[in-house]
Amino acid sequence: MTDSPLFYQAGPTLPEVSHADGVTLWDTRGKAYLDGCSGAISCNLGHGRQDIRNAMLAQLDRVAFTYRTQFENAPALALGRALVELTDGALEKVFFVCSGSEAVESALKLARQYVVATDEPQRRRFVSLRPSYHGSTLGALGVTGYHPLEAPFTELTHASLKVAGPDFYRHQDADDDAHVDRVLAETRTAIEAAGPESIIAFILEPVGGASTGARLLGERYLKGIRALCDDVGCLLILDEVLTGLGRTGTWFAWQHYGVIPDLLVTAKGLGAGYYPVGALLARDDIVSKVMANGGFQHGHTYAGNPLACATGLAVIEAIRRERLLDNTRARGEQLEAGLRTLAERYPWVGHVRGLGLLWGVELVADPATRQPFPAGQNRFAQITALAKEEGLLIYPRRTLDGVAGDHFLVTPPLTIRAQEVGTLLERLGRAMARFDQALA
Ligand code: PLP
Repeated sequence: MTDSPLFYQAGPTLPEVSHADGVTLWDTRGKAYLDGCSGAISCNLGHGRQDIRNAMLAQLDRVAFTYRTQFENAPALALGRALVELTDGALEKVFFVCSGSEAVESALKLARQYVVATDEPQRRRFVSLRPSYHGSTLGALGVTGYHPLEAPFTELTHASLKVAGPDFYRHQDADDDAHVDRVLAETRTAIEAAGPESIIAFILEPVGGASTGARLLGERYLKGIRALCDDVGCLLILDEVLTGLGRTGTWFAWQHYGVIPDLLVTAKGLGAGYYPVGALLARDDIVSKVMANGGFQHGHTYAGNPLACATGLAVIEAIRRERLLDNTRARGEQLEAGLRTLAERYPWVGHVRGLGLLWGVELVADPATRQPFPAGQNRFAQITALAKEEGLLIYPRRTLDGVAGDHFLVTPPLTIRAQEVGTLLERLGRAMARFDQALA
């Protein structure tokens, strides 16, 4: 029992934050931390930005809240148009929410209302990957493939059909293409067994986030899934809660692969840690059918409020003005090179993977067999604690679903400068050296 009134998760006592600026946070004892994971891969522009503050203050002075059924508001309209533009016009309609889980929840509900509106009410099931993470509300949890989070709720959620995605680190197939083809064939078989006419949509992250340690799925797989969805007659929902708004070096990760979703969700980087805002984007014809059939039966009080949307607009403007997609690609290359150099020093670094400024480092007990560390050893937590002692925040996770073991994410703000990447790698190097000594 602690004397804090707050409860989140079991874990060590945390330092109290004092203030933050750029890529650095300070605690109340004066210790500085380089934000190597943008909080929860959300503070994509770094901390303490005057431009975002000014945009928010200006909106607060005008009007902070209006309800979406009472008024249109200029920031929501402008942010909606801006998001549509970022998809190159592929998706024409936007519905605002306050978080990633809400965005996923909204996508699932819009997809269901679409199949009802198009006279296919027998479509009742979603397909998703294991492992995956799509949020913590019961609907989003139903499509999430992450055992520790699902376990207490399996009887309360509407579980999706969970299938395996490609694993370019551990597969035993002749080559990557053969592996992808086999995984796609198995997925097709699983959907055929479940009944293609029962599937509403396939939901997946085009580049994995925390649940897989930035696992890449690749163009061949994503194009295969797009074709499979078309064959099955179901929708493709891409979850870009974590990858959207530039994290991988393009506005959205699907733009690397040319695979256009029917529905797209995004959140974290849209408010960039300054205010909660997320969005569901959808094709016009999908929305039109739902609207013509009684409207979208869904909504949240704070959805599309002017303050949230003014924040999102200021974030997009900053990414454009400061050419942060270019910076993400350049600093991402620097970070990748540094991570690979560190990885060569230690046999327990099994795999380094990622794109842009989204990097995952997987730890293994045995590099030859790629055997993960035993779960109870909590290696991911140890290395994260050592990094924190060295003044570096990284994002830890262990996946218990048989694909990946311990891993951590390195996902600094898209604003990070070359010298700061150097500092990040130095601190990570010191943490890794200490972790190695502790293993010996
Ligand atoms: N989807 C993905 C891919 C995520 O990474 C997350 C959060 O980590 C979510 C959904 C849920 O977002 P939120 O925590 O904002 O509800």
